[in-house]
Amino acid sequence: MKETILFELKANLKDLKLSAMVREIDVTLRQATDSGIGYDELLVDLTRLEIESRATNRLKRRVREAKFPLLKPLETFDLEAVPELDIRVFRELISCEYIREQRNVIFLGSSGTGKTHIATALGLEACKNNYRTRFVTCYGLVNELIEAREERDLQRLLKRYSRYDLLILDELGYIPFSKEGAELLFQVLAERYEKGSVMITTNLGFADWTQVFDDQTMTAALLDRLTHKARIVNCNWQSYRLKQSLESGNTIKKEEA
Ligand code: ADP
Ligand code: MG
Repeated sequence: MKETILFELKANLKDLKLSAMVREIDVTLRQATDSGIGYDELLVDLTRLEIESRATNRLKRRVREAKFPLLKPLETFDLEAVPELDIRVFRELISCEYIREQRNVIFLGSSGTGKTHIATALGLEACKNNYRTRFVTCYGLVNELIEAREERDLQRLLKRYSRYDLLILDELGYIPFSKEGAELLFQVLAERYEKGSVMITTNLGFADWTQVFDDQTMTAALLDRLTHKARIVNCNWQSYRLKQSLESGNTIKKEEA
């Protein structure tokens, strides 16, 4: 290809914001000349590179916006350690169908059972499916809301939280909040009702939610909205950490014997 034509082609691609094609065109052209492939294949190769590059960038952006505390993809979750987990439900959650249907998911169980791990892994799957996702602890969210109200910025924050396709609220019930905090959290959840999915991890049975929200009527209204059409996963198995400690204890004993 003539230098001047190549120059114009690159300028056009840049204008069209096809940055991966601009980046790859020299190498692809050289490879095409070497291997003798035609322009048709060359165009397919170049456009595929652009599509792949966009998908990678989009995923990176979604993951960055989600603010996961740790990246724990599905592959790191040991299913054999939790034979009690209904694999059909798990697969359904991986498929992100609940997000399309705007249903909620609640992981209920004691500490160390892998609730945060599963929620993070599923959040990552949501990002891969191009869903706007946000991970936040309940405590973190309530603080953010209180701060925003003080700075007269609450409406903007509420709007932002209503726009996520999936909001993951980690650790409901670990720390009780003030009446103001409970009301603000209620507002976020009420705004999202039937508009977007909420995934909650909690160590509290539903009967104990009034301890956190400190208001019977509000708790009832909240539970009603949250659990409506929700997938509730009871993680009532042994703590993974405890299991591991016990197993390593056993190994030592075996070695000693
Ligand atoms: P929870 O949120 O229920 O308190 P975590 O998700 O924080 O529990 O899990 C505690 C620790 O055990 C984490 O380091 C987590 O990665 C690990 N863990 C829990 N379950 C599994 C599992 N099935 N496979 C691999 N690691 C697990
Ligand atoms: Mg947790």
